[in-house]
Amino acid sequence: MDSLNKLQILAEHMGLEPAEEVPSQPALAEKQVAPCGQVINPRSQKQNDLGIFHAKMPGGKTIPLLKTLLTSACERNCVYCPFRVGRNYRRVTFKPEEMAQTFMDMYRAGLVKGLFLSSGIIGSGVKTQDRLLDTVTILRQKHHFRGYIHLKIMPGAERAQVETAVTLADRLSINLEAPNPQRLVIVAPQKQFGAELLAPLRWVEEIRQTQPAHVGWNGRMPSTVTQFVVGGAGETDLELLSTAAFLHQQLHLARVYYSTFSPVPNTPLENQPAANPLRTHRLYQASFLFRDYSFDLEEMPFDETGNLPLDRDPKLAWAYANLRENLVEINRASREELLRVPGIGPKGAEVILRARQRGTLREVAHLQQLGVHTSRLKPFVLLDGKRPSYQLPLFKGIDNGS
Ligand code: SF4
Repeated sequence: MDSLNKLQILAEHMGLEPAEEVPSQPALAEKQVAPCGQVINPRSQKQNDLGIFHAKMPGGKTIPLLKTLLTSACERNCVYCPFRVGRNYRRVTFKPEEMAQTFMDMYRAGLVKGLFLSSGIIGSGVKTQDRLLDTVTILRQKHHFRGYIHLKIMPGAERAQVETAVTLADRLSINLEAPNPQRLVIVAPQKQFGAELLAPLRWVEEIRQTQPAHVGWNGRMPSTVTQFVVGGAGETDLELLSTAAFLHQQLHLARVYYSTFSPVPNTPLENQPAANPLRTHRLYQASFLFRDYSFDLEEMPFDETGNLPLDRDPKLAWAYANLRENLVEINRASREELLRVPGIGPKGAEVILRARQRGTLREVAHLQQLGVHTSRLKPFVLLDGKRPSYQLPLFKGIDNGS
């Protein structure tokens, strides 16, 4: 089997890893030719057939990223996973040299600019991590590839391997899958939450705190991210977000990704209903409130079951509970107070603070001229002591706003 056929087989399930992906795939300008001579027409989605995803980089740029595995064979038995041991499924494996060469061929053909590399576990996490490190070392040292690499750390990898990974990759990740050991054992009975999954994230953070930045690849320490499966283990949003808050605040993870559980045929969870994607959306919104808006976990509007409301975004739900009687004066509020108003994000807060230095903001139209979205903020603010007029919603619908 040639390398591109292998990539096509692997690509079938790579959408399960939402890391870095942008939601809609922008159309590329023209047809491109794969190293095998196969013409890739972007409009026919052939790029995704090979596992190429349009991915947002830490700096905000979007690049075509090859998201793939060194092998889809695995000795573990995670109950949601298409690659679990014993599942009747066509497995493919790359040798490190072959993967590095295949990637470089695609890179030179202009098909990809970065690599997301993971693997099923064969012969222990340590041995699998060695093969991943070999692949990336070949790319960096033999092929002199200096572009973006997101490398997975395997459950059970050793600290010395993590120290090597820091010198090779732009981003490192290990998927926690579930928010705590009690939930993990339900979906991944052979994984150890603390010793195998959390420990490598702690090691990277320790290295970042104690070593000079030039130790990292390209003079920078890699960022870290993780992923949870949402709805696989009966976990609540409170459990997921408690762990996410810890990861952001204590281990300085750049992102926590949420993958909506969807049953895979021929796995123990094949008859379990898929999780609601709107739940995942609300979890992302809540995660951004910790990371970018200075909210605390205790401020999230959990219901009595420990879950977020689905019909309203968490910032709006918080504002209805807390700001209706404590309106925010746009002309006096601090940056942190402005950020708590629905419709005002970091950019909106900045332009308001700058505009206040030039005069008093008295009208909703003044905010609109600054580019602030005003449809959601009116019930919660004062403009020079006056409430802007607004219409109460006639019915309670699903609200997806920011
Ligand atoms: S270790 Fe990874 S690849 Fe293997 S079964 Fe679990 S989730 Fe799937």
